[in-house]
Amino acid sequence: MTSSPASQHLFERARAVSPGGVNSPVRAFRAVGGTPIFMASGEGAWLTDVDGRRYVDLVGSWGPMLLGHAHPEVISAVGAAAARGTSFGTPSEPEVLLAEEIVARTSAEMVRMVSSGTEATMSAIRLARGFTGRDKIVKFAGCYHGHVDALLAEAGSGVVTLGLPETPGVPAHVTADTIVLPYNDRAAVEAAFAEHGDQIACLITEAAAGNMGVVPPEPGFNEFLSQTCARHGALFISDEVMTGFRVTRSGHWGLDGQREGWAPDLVTFGKVMGGGFPAAAFGGRRDVMEQLAPSGPVYQAGTLSGNPIATTAGLTTLRLADDEAYGRLDAASQQLQSMVTEALVEAGVAHALQNAGSMFSVFWGVDGPVTDFAGAQSQEAWRYKPFFHAMLDAGVYLPPSAFECWFVSAAHDDQALSTIAAALPNAARAAAQA
Ligand code: PMP
Repeated sequence: MTSSPASQHLFERARAVSPGGVNSPVRAFRAVGGTPIFMASGEGAWLTDVDGRRYVDLVGSWGPMLLGHAHPEVISAVGAAAARGTSFGTPSEPEVLLAEEIVARTSAEMVRMVSSGTEATMSAIRLARGFTGRDKIVKFAGCYHGHVDALLAEAGSGVVTLGLPETPGVPAHVTADTIVLPYNDRAAVEAAFAEHGDQIACLITEAAAGNMGVVPPEPGFNEFLSQTCARHGALFISDEVMTGFRVTRSGHWGLDGQREGWAPDLVTFGKVMGGGFPAAAFGGRRDVMEQLAPSGPVYQAGTLSGNPIATTAGLTTLRLADDEAYGRLDAASQQLQSMVTEALVEAGVAHALQNAGSMFSVFWGVDGPVTDFAGAQSQEAWRYKPFFHAMLDAGVYLPPSAFECWFVSAAHDDQALSTIAAALPNAARAAAQA
């Protein structure tokens, strides 16, 4: 492992004042070992750490950096917005423009801005419960919807990386109304609705699962969920926090619902729509959204919701995310996926590389496609550790967990891709030998 004295020093100081030395568990290198790298700056596809080393970034701040880091037009718009004042606690123009942009791109007829994906899913569930007057909610094992109490049952992302069966601090009665089902399992969904259909407020699913590694919905699965919910008077919530404005200009809905002619009742967004700032949203059917305060009785609020700097960053990002940008992003991702497959095949590593549009991840040591959480957990995750460090030493920054998706940006150009290509064979051999 390359030594990183400045990161090491900061990590020691961080650990003295913050639990585990990080402000979000997935940033720690628990699964891969070693010291988390402290980044000092980013530009395009590249990050520079506090020791002055450069990396091609395949984390992209876990999704927001669709255009790469420090896009000059985003930075300039943000600077101008900041100079006008950082928060007013009143309505302001950028939040209206961003809401219009989201409504124009997606199935949502109205949106409410919040500051994180967690708030978006938490509020969408409250709204669904308020709208239907029912308590039960359905989620899938391995899907992560933020650290919402009721949704931390069998969650993906950091919960699976750290191997936590459940988290202390969530009272049993809070998850008592949460039904957890295997992903992609129609029979399990039918059975749950047959038994509890008239008590189910909503079913929430990632539009394509990306928090147990990437596990796309089987063809027609989301439509089936939407129809099943409709039949039982429950709301269908599509969580597009990760996929939104990334896998198409709308999100995953652009790959299924829009073509198939159905729409979720509620949808959640985050990540890309904040351009690297804390902005997220939930939205959907007008009749449901109008139940929110102040137009309706379901309470939801936020001091910094629709913050003018965050919404300016998001709006500028989305305006720059045109067909040409998505074309570049998809081409870079496809090239990268081929390079990874080739290196792993060459080194004799059994694997499944799975994608949802430009999002993808690798399942190690599996002999067929992974369709659910049990399959994801059966992978030989230990092979990732030497792979990750070999890539890091060669200047490629990957997510520090085998259960996370790899994020490419529209700024991943030939130079970035050739750096990754040069790093892969050695890393693949390290994975083979693990
Ligand atoms: N939903 C999904 C699908 C996510 O991937 C995430 C974050 N990775 C969240 C919700 C929570 O978002 P946040 O971290 O902004 O609270």
